Amino acid sequence: MTQWLSSEPRQGANAAPGDDELRMIPRWSMLLALLLFAGMQYIFHGVMPHHKQEMLPLRLMMGYAWGTLVASYALLLGYVSRDVKRRGMSAGLWMLVCVVLPGGIGAVVYFMLRQPVLSRCPACAISISSTYHFCPQCQFQMAPVCGECHRGVKITDAFCTLCGHDLAQDGAPARLRAYSD
Ligand SMILES: [Zn+2]
Ligand SMILES: [Zn+2]
Repeated sequence: MTQWLSSEPRQGANAAPGDDELRMIPRWSMLLALLLFAGMQYIFHGVMPHHKQEMLPLRLMMGYAWGTLVASYALLLGYVSRDVKRRGMSAGLWMLVCVVLPGGIGAVVYFMLRQPVLSRCPACAISISSTYHFCPQCQFQMAPVCGECHRGVKITDAFCTLCGHDLAQDGAPARLRAYSD
């Protein structure tokens, strides 16, 4: 099991989604987020005229709300800048779309149109979509499939959930068998 995992050059992005999604946010965007948040506090408490002392709670709230908004936008931009790369999409174009389209619309468009994550074929090392079951160049089996209907199955399944085929008859490749033990 461990031997199979270490010999697998597959990028971490596919293995543990939750953890890796956080690591997808680069340091520059975290720094930018902090700066923007601080900048917003400065605008609301330093630049804006505040002769009325009773407005302070409102000003605190507005500063916090705007600060959080721009900071999360910086984090989102950072995420997109890394996410485009592992999907083989144009980084410049999508960063521009996210910055230019106002109010996060660009980001929404991005998340609707983004391509599946690319992974690397362990056998011939070409970049392929992680949704593929077989490598299009060398026929290396990337994911467990039913030998009868060729649709994806779980590695722990004994029978295909779609056609009822007995998966034990298929003779899965050694790398897939090591996974289920
Ligand atoms: Zn291949
Ligand atoms: Zn099947």
